[in-house]
Amino acid sequence: MTSPARPPAACLIGWPAAHSRSPLIHHYWLRTLGIEGGYVIEAVPPDDLRDFVLRLSLRGFVGANVTIPHKEKVLALSTPDARAQAIGAANTLWFADGELRATNTDVEGFASNLDASAPGWDKAEEALVLGAGGAARAVVFGLLERGIKRVHLVNRTLSRAERLAETFGAAVEPATWDKVRGLLPRASLLVNTTSLGMHGQGALDIDVGLLPQHAVVADLVYVPLQTELLKAAKARGLRTADGLGMLLHQAVRGFELWFGQRPQVTSELRALVEADLTHA
Ligand code: NAP
Repeated sequence: MTSPARPPAACLIGWPAAHSRSPLIHHYWLRTLGIEGGYVIEAVPPDDLRDFVLRLSLRGFVGANVTIPHKEKVLALSTPDARAQAIGAANTLWFADGELRATNTDVEGFASNLDASAPGWDKAEEALVLGAGGAARAVVFGLLERGIKRVHLVNRTLSRAERLAETFGAAVEPATWDKVRGLLPRASLLVNTTSLGMHGQGALDIDVGLLPQHAVVADLVYVPLQTELLKAAKARGLRTADGLGMLLHQAVRGFELWFGQRPQVTSELRALVEADLTHA
């Protein structure tokens, strides 16, 4: 007698097992698409990562999300695509042709969110990106992939922006914060990838009045949902894209790779995650 096939399941690998919105998002899609499947959080200490990832399939998983502190280390345990390699971190694992593959879906999360919120954003010639951490790497990759010709990269620690520019080439120009006022009038797209503006962090002091009238403003921060930067941009009549939109859009590809259907970022899903963030 053969045992009944188990429904496909994916997991989130992190340490510690922090509160994440990913189960809420993937359970919503499984439910609304009528797919029998699962998504669970797996707390995996650093010393166990290798064994856990190499036995992912034996453990019954069709793939995984990867979060802090494992996003860099999984590259050596899988076959990363060009995005994951350039960014130096992966957040999504899946199997293809018997091989464990890795990618970084923050790139398409960022770009798809802008496509949905501010179509035509990629006609921008010059973009101004604030911050040079892990999220900035995904954003810069996405900007260059979509043909933005020049990316001004402003960071508190200049050396970090310089290292990022070394990876991505001459289109990325590192700069210090004192250059921001001079760069704003040239930027058709402004992206905040720093943690400034987030609850409990410092304020982001940017005069959006200096941006051109056609500029688009994106903020990766999603707590609060409406950051002061986004409020000021809206008050000026500029188009905006928020951090929650990016969070939802980055989950689309993983779900599609694991469960075989491309899900939609609906207003119902957004409301569900918004409510969870509000009550956190
Ligand atoms: P990270 O690697 O730690 O980088 C943090 C960045 O913020 C660095 O550029 C850092 O500058 C800058 N920064 C922090 N405090 C600052 C201050 N007081 N003044 C000036 N700059 C400051 O973090 P990350 O992973 O890139 O994440 C950055 C933000 O993006 C977080 O708010 C995160 O929640 C958000 N995020 C959102 C999404 C989404 O889906 N919406 C996805 C990824 C990340 P230094 O280099 O000088 O320290």
